[in-house]
Amino acid sequence: MSGKAILVLNAGSSSIKFLLFEHRDGRLEAQLRGQIEGIHTSPHFVARTARGIVAAEKNWGEGVALGHDGAVDYLAEFLRREGAGMELEAVGHRVVHGGPDFTRPVQIDSDVLAALERFIPLAPLHQPHNLAPIRMLLARRPDLPQVACFDTAFHATNPAVAQRFAIPADLHDAGVRRYGFHGLSYEYVASVMPEHDARTAVGRVVVCHLGNGSSMCAIENRSSVASTMGFTALDGLPMGTRSGAIDPGVLLYLMDERQMNARAIEKLLYHQSGLLGVSGISSDMRKLLDSNEPRAQVAVDLYVYRIRRELGSLVAALGGLDALIFTAGIGENSAVIRERVCRDAAWLGIELDVAANRAAGPRISTKASRVPAWVIPTNEELMIARHTQRLVAAPAFAR
Ligand code: ADP
Repeated sequence: MSGKAILVLNAGSSSIKFLLFEHRDGRLEAQLRGQIEGIHTSPHFVARTARGIVAAEKNWGEGVALGHDGAVDYLAEFLRREGAGMELEAVGHRVVHGGPDFTRPVQIDSDVLAALERFIPLAPLHQPHNLAPIRMLLARRPDLPQVACFDTAFHATNPAVAQRFAIPADLHDAGVRRYGFHGLSYEYVASVMPEHDARTAVGRVVVCHLGNGSSMCAIENRSSVASTMGFTALDGLPMGTRSGAIDPGVLLYLMDERQMNARAIEKLLYHQSGLLGVSGISSDMRKLLDSNEPRAQVAVDLYVYRIRRELGSLVAALGGLDALIFTAGIGENSAVIRERVCRDAAWLGIELDVAANRAAGPRISTKASRVPAWVIPTNEELMIARHTQRLVAAPAFAR
């Protein structure tokens, strides 16, 4: 490998995922991807080439706590060895929350980092982990340009009314509002829509990001106008282990009648609910679809039903529908779920092409379908790398 490279980091609570892009002739090509998992308990590192061949692997063993700093250290050392002759141009980070202020990707300095730390209460399960590698690299490699890309930013175009909860205004002013998430995925899908259908690209589109975390977004002329997630990534659709939308009265009931405190409710709604909670079997859609247990069926039925309901709501926000798009783990891989969602959406003018759907499209509706449906694989890391490359090239980035 030679030339310039952009490293994309996605740091979670127990893992750091990375993707190294080579930047050649203005094009970004994924070269190496991988992760260090179990960073606090039993770290395991694996890196794969663009073709999926294992390039390196390491186990630290049980009871070893690398932490975020140790994991980034190891990764930096690995990339130095592996990327001989390659110049690391910049690091792009996935950061879940940009709060009300950061509505586009931003170059990181100590002021920006301090501002992002103020949003930790808005996303306590993600934001601190996203920021850990940024803080460390800023201290150790202050000369290395870093860029933060936010899951919330794409939704900054939502009209004011879509961002508002019906609660007292001082809470809204303090940041208690609907933000929306999965923005990097939606932004990527919107960016490649013109390659599939020029008319769709400027039309009214609902994108279903159906993965372990699931949400849906209404997009008009490539800008977000509404989404199913709100103040946190807990709202909207049921997910692998998250409840999705729930009557807030349930939380009061849990506090009053079950004596549950905030931490217990957090555990329930983030980790024990959704597909896992309803089925009692698994958070993994594949396992539920393969299961004959009635409880698995109930969980899948609820997932599909909630998509149907949210689709109606998003189409109402758009005032019509010109295309429906599926993306992420379930959206890209499960013909069964796509088929059920499309059949439920027949009233909107979608007619499924069963064979095309089994082949994962990209177009999965018939030629006669009034509204087309598509499968478009997402690529959040490439979106981050593009933003990072663009910002680093901007004159303001020069130090
Ligand atoms: P994350 O939100 O963690 O990025 P993904 O987008 O990778 O998650 O999606 C993970 C989900 O995709 C899991 O529920 C998994 O079961 C599901 N999935 C992957 N492949 C298939 C498939 N062939 N059929 C059904 N579900 C699938």
